[in-house]
Amino acid sequence: MTGRLALTFDDRHVDSWVSARPLLDGVGARATFFLVEADLLDRREQSGIRTLLADGHSIGSHGARHRNADETIARAGAASYLADEIDPSVQALRALGASAQTFAYPNSRRDEASDDILLARFDHLRTGGPRTDDPAVAARAISAPGSSVRVHPGRGIDTARGEHAHPADADVLSGMMRHLADRGGTLVLYAHDIAASSPANHIHPDRLRRILIEASGLGLDLVGMDALPDIEGHREH
Ligand SMILES: [Zn+2]
Repeated sequence: MTGRLALTFDDRHVDSWVSARPLLDGVGARATFFLVEADLLDRREQSGIRTLLADGHSIGSHGARHRNADETIARAGAASYLADEIDPSVQALRALGASAQTFAYPNSRRDEASDDILLARFDHLRTGGPRTDDPAVAARAISAPGSSVRVHPGRGIDTARGEHAHPADADVLSGMMRHLADRGGTLVLYAHDIAASSPANHIHPDRLRRILIEASGLGLDLVGMDALPDIEGHREH
């Protein structure tokens, strides 16, 4: 039973993502990039997105303007949220050639109402959970083989934000990857910028390389979220 590691990257760090292509190619990994402000990209960014798509990576929506889904739906209603935050993003992504089958919650803000509304539009949603050091709690981010999970908790792997370093929790992630290798299942990872330093949340390229090599050595499938199993009967688009 093969474990599956779904790599995802959020926001609008297109240049960095393009630069990281050799890292992903080095182990045959494919990833999903969750793009915000897809309608505002300049020509270079548009070209970068097309390059990532041509490599076989997938591009999902991270909203048009990074609005909190739960809060916006509660305040403005579902129709307004979809018209302002989702439709413009999906239309811009499709114009770039992306399928936009997946969505990552900005700021990991979600609730049952937002899940219901967005699961009618997307195959899979990704949120985020606490970056716990407790291996038993961390393992809850792993979906068991054959489960029909469509809202994926995700595990953060950024190394820092600006000068502020995130927890050095490589051993916890190693344990999660061994769990996947031994028992199968799916784990979604997320990061943002890919750079040695950045004012934004970012993963150092060396750290990303180590994760990819370790996962590859364990025989995990390194896929984007578009490759997660479809739910029978779904797919309205
Ligand atoms: Zn974001």
